Amino acid sequence: MKILVINAGSSSLKYQLIDMEGEKVLAKGLCERIGIDGHLKHSPLVEGKPVFDENISLPTHSEAIAAVIDKLTSKEYGVVASMSEINAVGHRVVHGGEEFSSSVLIDDEVIKGIENCTPFAPLHNPANITGIEACKKVMGGVPQVAVFDTAFHQTIPGKAFMYALPYEFYENDKIRRYGFHGTSHRYVSSRAAEMLGKPIESLKLVSCHMGNGSSVCAIDGGKSVDTSMGFTPLVGLPMGTRCGQMDMGAVQFLMNKYGYSIDEMLNILNKKSGVLGISGVSSDFRDLDEAASKGNERAALALDVFHYWVAKTVGGYVAAMNGVDAIIFTAGIGENSKGTRAAICEYFGYLGCTVDPEQNSKRGEDLFISTPDSKVKLLVIPTNEELVIARDTKDIVTAK
Ligand code: AMP
Repeated sequence: MKILVINAGSSSLKYQLIDMEGEKVLAKGLCERIGIDGHLKHSPLVEGKPVFDENISLPTHSEAIAAVIDKLTSKEYGVVASMSEINAVGHRVVHGGEEFSSSVLIDDEVIKGIENCTPFAPLHNPANITGIEACKKVMGGVPQVAVFDTAFHQTIPGKAFMYALPYEFYENDKIRRYGFHGTSHRYVSSRAAEMLGKPIESLKLVSCHMGNGSSVCAIDGGKSVDTSMGFTPLVGLPMGTRCGQMDMGAVQFLMNKYGYSIDEMLNILNKKSGVLGISGVSSDFRDLDEAASKGNERAALALDVFHYWVAKTVGGYVAAMNGVDAIIFTAGIGENSKGTRAAICEYFGYLGCTVDPEQNSKRGEDLFISTPDSKVKLLVIPTNEELVIARDTKDIVTAK
């Protein structure tokens, strides 16, 4: 069975074609500048096929999907003989609200449900729907499945998802913690159980997804029981450009003092804050590491703030679960920055955790970075959200 995984943004569309026999990626690519002019980079991952990387006209997502299918099936760049070899499509959908607690086969009702969640993710959900509609138009009756970023966190109990606001804001407006990166937290936690050789039902895990956006998740017995992002992905840890937790009183103070509109203020909190805001250098941790090593104090402070927030959030979740068996690092920073991992793990002495520096300097693979006698295991697991989407799609389509 071959599954096309789609992650549609407002002007972009990422894809992978995965052969579920051996879970092998046959091709991947990215359409960009959809609705502006258009560019497609298509990389076949089978031998002898060249990469296609050119500007092409992409007025809408439908032309983008058609271009992807054209490349996947073409003589020169293709990896399948015809569209009929693509058995199903799995879509990443950002917000499933309280309506979707697992992946679902897409029909008109599901599209309505995703539309209902649009006020919670006004930039993302409409783009995801556009991707679904485009596939429907170009691929006809090929079954499509929606996999939600929020679904994994629907097991979080009320004590952890409720905001202490007047109750009617929850009842009438569904204002609550939803959490994001659920597909990633789900993947790394199940992989961690495999690596630890124990059933996930018996494990208490904390997963640290640290990339452009970052979140920590407490996973007890395979279920998300708390996570640091909230109603939106703005809060929790300080991130590349997002502020993380913030005092609303300070926001009001700044808006009054500088006459910012709410949109201007949110733009600052989303795009000009985080480690970029503190350092004034960059949102990229590679640049921060370099600047800090050359003596830039604000870059060093930004890194310290990030490490501190990850460590104290992990500590909170260890308390919430009354223990932890393993702490997992994943995503761009978690997978690649040994310095960040080492600095965060320095806070974990109280857990009887010790880092093996040699293991911690390896990259690009599933790794134990704790010493064999460490009471709590430390793991690095490269995340693979596309594979989770493909697996869910296969399960749902074959169960039909
Ligand atoms: P992601 O959102 O998971 O793609 O992560 C992207 C982020 O990972 C980049 O913005 C960098 O901050 C970070 N990153 C990638 N490679 C490295 C590295 N070698 N060292 C430190 N940070 C890295």
